[in-house]
Amino acid sequence: ANAVNHGRRRVVTYEAAMRTEMERQTIVENALARAIEANELLPHFQPQFNLKTGRIFGVEALARWYHSELGWISPSEFIPLAERNGDIVSLGWKILETACSEVQLLPNELTVSVNLSVAQILSDDVVAMMDECLGRTGLPASRLKLEVTETTIMSDLKRIQTTLSEMRALGVGISLDDFGVGYSALSYLTDFHWDEIKIDRSFATKAVRDRKIRDILKLVLGIAETMGSDVLIEGIETVEQRDVLVDLGCANGQGYLFGGPMAIDDITTLFFSENGQRSFAGI
Ligand code: C2E
Ligand code: MG
Ligand code: MG
Ligand code: MG
Repeated sequence: ANAVNHGRRRVVTYEAAMRTEMERQTIVENALARAIEANELLPHFQPQFNLKTGRIFGVEALARWYHSELGWISPSEFIPLAERNGDIVSLGWKILETACSEVQLLPNELTVSVNLSVAQILSDDVVAMMDECLGRTGLPASRLKLEVTETTIMSDLKRIQTTLSEMRALGVGISLDDFGVGYSALSYLTDFHWDEIKIDRSFATKAVRDRKIRDILKLVLGIAETMGSDVLIEGIETVEQRDVLVDLGCANGQGYLFGGPMAIDDITTLFFSENGQRSFAGI
């Protein structure tokens, strides 16, 4: 009897957990549209470094949301919801516009990378809207990079490559995000001119302990060089990872070792403290 009761209680607990999860999703989803409208979602900026010189050269804009009752809500929670219900389009434009106007006030040499979702790329007038955003904010096109993932481009390869080429013609850079997870067809690297390839953070972890991963990374670096693409490796968390990646010839990196996403003022402070090398000084 004990076992049956125990079993039943677990089922009830599981259902309760499911219900709580669904209730939270509903609350978050309902709050999202209003929060976007009210500018409650803002970009934070993660610094990006040249691994050899230790200098900061740019930032990645990452959406952040503080909800008055729920507290901080992670992008891994609200981005998938926004992609499902279409709010990702208005969210994406707001983050882009705020990121451009804030980075425009940073020293000229700093670039900003902004993540683009598939729905945003496929929306009408995306190129004209991008152009208008640059005009309104005053950010030179050469200081903006747009990040797309393999999953995004494979949803409609031809059309998305055409749109990305049109945006490139405005002068913005195009970056392939999270490379190496997902489908990673070699043709994604060779059929399109990527200004930058961002290698997924799982490789930073695996490279330290796996020789085969290091050999594969070397091949990817060789392809990138052939194609004239810059390479940045994401998610560097330890000195050991950084040293292995520098040895392999990775030029650029970002990760918690150097700094997580932060407010724009902290980027300014970082830039001016020992020319942005502060993060490297003690490492
Ligand atoms: P992503 O574009 O690949 O961004 C990198 C993610 O890795 C960020 O998570 C960042 O905070 C995290 N990260 C940075 N350094 C480290 C590290 O050293 N270790 C670990 N474990 N993680 C690190 P975040 O901010 O939670 O964003 C998650 C994803 O949500 C992003 O992945 C991006 O795909 C999406 N996202 C965020 N903001 C936006 C946005 O404005 N628009 C769109 N469309 N997607 C966004
Ligand atoms: Mg990204
Ligand atoms: Mg990424
Ligand atoms: Mg990612």
